[in-house]
Amino acid sequence: MTAAIMDGLAVSKETRARLQGRVEALRCAGTTPGLAVLIVGENPASKVYVRNKAKACGEIGMHSEIHEYPGDATEATVLAKIAELNADPRIHGILVQLPLPKHFDVDNVLETISPHKDVDGFHKESLGALMSGNPTFQPCTPHGVMVILDHYGIPLAGVDAVVVGRSNIVGKPQALMLLARDATVTICTSKTKDLAAHTRRADVLVVAVGRPGVVTGDMIKPGAAVVDVGINRTAEGKLVGDVDFESAKQVAGWLTPVPGGVGPMTITMLLANTVRSAELAAGLPSPKF
Ligand code: NDP
Repeated sequence: MTAAIMDGLAVSKETRARLQGRVEALRCAGTTPGLAVLIVGENPASKVYVRNKAKACGEIGMHSEIHEYPGDATEATVLAKIAELNADPRIHGILVQLPLPKHFDVDNVLETISPHKDVDGFHKESLGALMSGNPTFQPCTPHGVMVILDHYGIPLAGVDAVVVGRSNIVGKPQALMLLARDATVTICTSKTKDLAAHTRRADVLVVAVGRPGVVTGDMIKPGAAVVDVGINRTAEGKLVGDVDFESAKQVAGWLTPVPGGVGPMTITMLLANTVRSAELAAGLPSPKF
């Protein structure tokens, strides 16, 4: 068997085109959706991510602004800016680029963002709403995975879904989203005794670990849908996922590549959350996706 590729770039383009239509409708109604991004310090990767987010906003007609602070900025300075943005009617989404310098209390910073503008979906109120089944803003990466699976018509109800990784930004919310769609969900961690025994049972396998080759073809159920969230750079500078693509391709039914799989969907879902926030603020109907 050779897996069919789930093309995140194509799904992302299609989704952004639909979002552009919603942005135009909002602008006709007098609202331009606005995203504010705060970045602290000189992390080069973070700077690239932030620039890409601003560029993506501009491409679909949204307003964006970047607030940059040096690595020795105080938490109080950043909290004051968040409070100002919380009250700014031009801003519908606020995102603090992670990681923050060590002297910051990350939870405190994330909790200061208004839940109405929490477009990353990391506020405890957003995570609680996800847990209870009625989220307004869902974390972007796992939400993007769900959009990809739906785009390719992968059945979820009643299937065995295995999520490898339990971070608050990917693994845990991913498991909740799959559970909400009636999958039977298993979460594996670094402490899982026999990872392959679990992954081999998976009809849907989502891998978010951050280690190349943690899942190989022999660990995959024939025909399974495999989503590789991992982004790793090899010694040669090549981007690879957590799943060994070549061996997985021989066994899986569906597979996301890296790059070009989940990555492009993360920014797309950030745009989607910001558009939704603007629609809710304007009192317009807002599809959940
Ligand atoms: P974290 O480091 O926060 O979490 C990794 C998880 O993997 C942990 O729960 C850890 O378990 C688990 N783990 C580690 N080793 C193993 C193992 N051998 N077997 C099973 N589980 C294991 O990472 P993130 O969730 O933030 O990110 C995961 C990957 O996804 C990274 O490569 C990251 O770059 C990528 N990513 C990609 C995004 C995108 O846009 N495509 C967005 C966000 C992340 P334990 O809890 O026991 O330590």
